[in-house]
Amino acid sequence: MVLEVKWCGFDYGECIMNADDVRNAILYGDIYKALGKPELISEKIGRHRVLKEKYGSYPILQEGHRDDIYSFVLGKDKTAIELLRLEEQELLDTADDLEEALVHLKREGIETAVVTEMKYSRNPLGDDRISRFLKKRNLDKYFKDVITPVGKVTLETNSVDGRYEGATKAQGTIYDVLAKDLRERGIGTHEAVMVGDRPGMDINPAHKRGFKTIQYTGFTNHGLSKADIVISSFGELTTILRKKN
Ligand SMILES: [Mg+2]
Repeated sequence: MVLEVKWCGFDYGECIMNADDVRNAILYGDIYKALGKPELISEKIGRHRVLKEKYGSYPILQEGHRDDIYSFVLGKDKTAIELLRLEEQELLDTADDLEEALVHLKREGIETAVVTEMKYSRNPLGDDRISRFLKKRNLDKYFKDVITPVGKVTLETNSVDGRYEGATKAQGTIYDVLAKDLRERGIGTHEAVMVGDRPGMDINPAHKRGFKTIQYTGFTNHGLSKADIVISSFGELTTILRKKN
């Protein structure tokens, strides 16, 4: 199935998080420091990357080929395997194949935004924790806006649109403001898609307002929703999403 759109919104939590390499650096860094062999860290990260290339994505590798990780990366070291299991629990909330999808969207000319339920920010928008997360990982170049109940910030200029203040995903009102915002720029809700994991936050309220919706189950499968499509890896977006002319 192909969806033709002009705009794509991504949820943040359990959708966009630590980039894969960052996570693996932490994962193998912690394991081999704990084992007293920090000199092995970069080799292990490299070996993990080889397996990821071989099997195509993190979830497939993680769920279907664990034995390869245990033997090829960890050398069947029992302590290392146990540490890996423990560490993974700490680092589960991360996204895979995200950048590949974002590169595709940019190439297609599809505008992207993060749409998140962040209701409070200690720092001004643009310097909030989500904008900082994107900037630190060099992902801000892919996203035009970060849309939150505190307001919308356009990352390139740090300009803030206050119309979003107080509008939330849970109530669905953020999608009302978003629909109006997009319409003013010539984009209908049927030409816009929302990607996220939670039916009640990311999918159903957006669907109700005419947005196309994609449920991401790569971290957590929250069950049935009104989503047009369900994906378990962001890589799938490269074939699903096309620019609407
Ligand atoms: Mg989420």
